[in-house]
Amino acid sequence: MYKAIVGLEVHVELNTKSKMFCSCRNNPNARIPNSEICPICLGHPGTLPVINKEAVRKTIKTGLALNCQIPEYSKFDRKNYFYPDLPKGYQISQLYMPFCKTGFLEIDNKKIRIREIHLEEDVGRLIHEKDCSLVDFNRAGIPLMELVTEPDLNSAKEARKFAEELQLILRYLNVSGADMEKGEMRVEVNISLAQGSKRKAQKLGTKVEIKNLNSFRAVEKSIDYEIKRQEKILKSGKKVIQETRGWLDEATASSRRVAGARVDDVKGVTVSQREKEYAHDYRYFPEPDLPILHLGTPEYLNGIKAEIPELPQQKRERFKKEYELDEKMVAETSSHLPPRSASRSSAIEVFVYNKDLGEYFEKVISEFPPNLPREKLLKLIKLATNYLITDLQGLLKGASVSGEDFLITPENFAEFITLIYEGKISSKIAKMVLSEMFSTGADPSHIIEEKGLVQITDEAEIEKIIKEVISKNPKAVEDFKKGKAHAFQFLIGQIMAQTKGKANPQIVKDILSKELTP
Ligand SMILES: [Zn+2]
Repeated sequence: MYKAIVGLEVHVELNTKSKMFCSCRNNPNARIPNSEICPICLGHPGTLPVINKEAVRKTIKTGLALNCQIPEYSKFDRKNYFYPDLPKGYQISQLYMPFCKTGFLEIDNKKIRIREIHLEEDVGRLIHEKDCSLVDFNRAGIPLMELVTEPDLNSAKEARKFAEELQLILRYLNVSGADMEKGEMRVEVNISLAQGSKRKAQKLGTKVEIKNLNSFRAVEKSIDYEIKRQEKILKSGKKVIQETRGWLDEATASSRRVAGARVDDVKGVTVSQREKEYAHDYRYFPEPDLPILHLGTPEYLNGIKAEIPELPQQKRERFKKEYELDEKMVAETSSHLPPRSASRSSAIEVFVYNKDLGEYFEKVISEFPPNLPREKLLKLIKLATNYLITDLQGLLKGASVSGEDFLITPENFAEFITLIYEGKISSKIAKMVLSEMFSTGADPSHIIEEKGLVQITDEAEIEKIIKEVISKNPKAVEDFKKGKAHAFQFLIGQIMAQTKGKANPQIVKDILSKELTP
């Protein structure tokens, strides 16, 4: 029996205004290479770094949100190595006294311990052309936060969930865009297989690192692959080599050629990149150009704590309690589902993942009259939820409710939901009304009046139409009497078509069954 032991290292580019140690703009969207640079981030001799206060604050804010201890003193260290994208010949990082230590993040009621969170600077970017390599230093010196977990994760799925939840928290805290495709959040995993299932009897295995995973899918797939690869090695009696591997899937394989990797017949593979290097290779030493920081004081930390908003997990719990949203899955076709495992795509998850939509939802609910009986309020909430995460998403086509082009006020949306609840418009008419509200921003009762969409509830009028439809469709009536249920639906369809969807469906159903049963 092997047990997977997985730890993560996550690099996050902070969304500060300026770079980590100079006043250059932190502009990840800069189009012209080497346009956001200065002698400091180019590492010219004689220049001196100045610590970015906002970057430190955002790092500590993240630490506090992840239940970390903030040591009283912290400092920066030099990590020495040579690489063409690192002009100084060293990176300013933190090894001995990081800003945050010993925290945790809970995933499905399991505490995943966080060893530390430290701050460093990002390096430049190499662009490999056909016969030369170019270097762009715009990214050099952007504040880079590194979070290291303890090896508390035991499966690929768990690791993915951790990374997804972390991304959500970083976005709630507004410390980073944390977009993995853009490299704003980069995940490295280390995996070993332990033998024996009981913790004490466990024989720990050799650790393998997988670098630069830039999607949640890559995190999950590469771990799954690596677990199987190591299992195979161990079962055949061989030893796992301690090394760094890269993940190669169909997407990266087509853009990059890696020697020795055959990807034609597999979904993805990890490939060896280099054997493990050790910390002392870097000759870490305290950064002499920067002072020791004394930040772990109640005044400083309380100020940051006060800025931490409601976090995703708190929101989930509150939404469940306050609005009694069920955790039932929503349709896979909804375009605003979070990119996570389907098992988590409940209405609550959609609102938590789409923060803007969740906030809009709450504004809509607050527009319902106060002192409604709880039961009625819950029905309105349920209706509002359904229309927000299905029909409205269809109209938005990926745009946000916080965008300038979004014209439906929470007040109008609440009125729209009330009209449906009270049976004043059918679901078919509701679609038309919503689409009109979406394009013009008009209020729903106005639209209904102007377009003559008021529902027909007059029983005599409906009965007249039903009799007409029955006399025109003798075949369907006969089929129904023979017990064919679809014939009933067919007749209802005919009646609704005749009334352009305006007949109250319940009344139609009631009268039609009465007419058809002798
Ligand atoms: Zn600079």
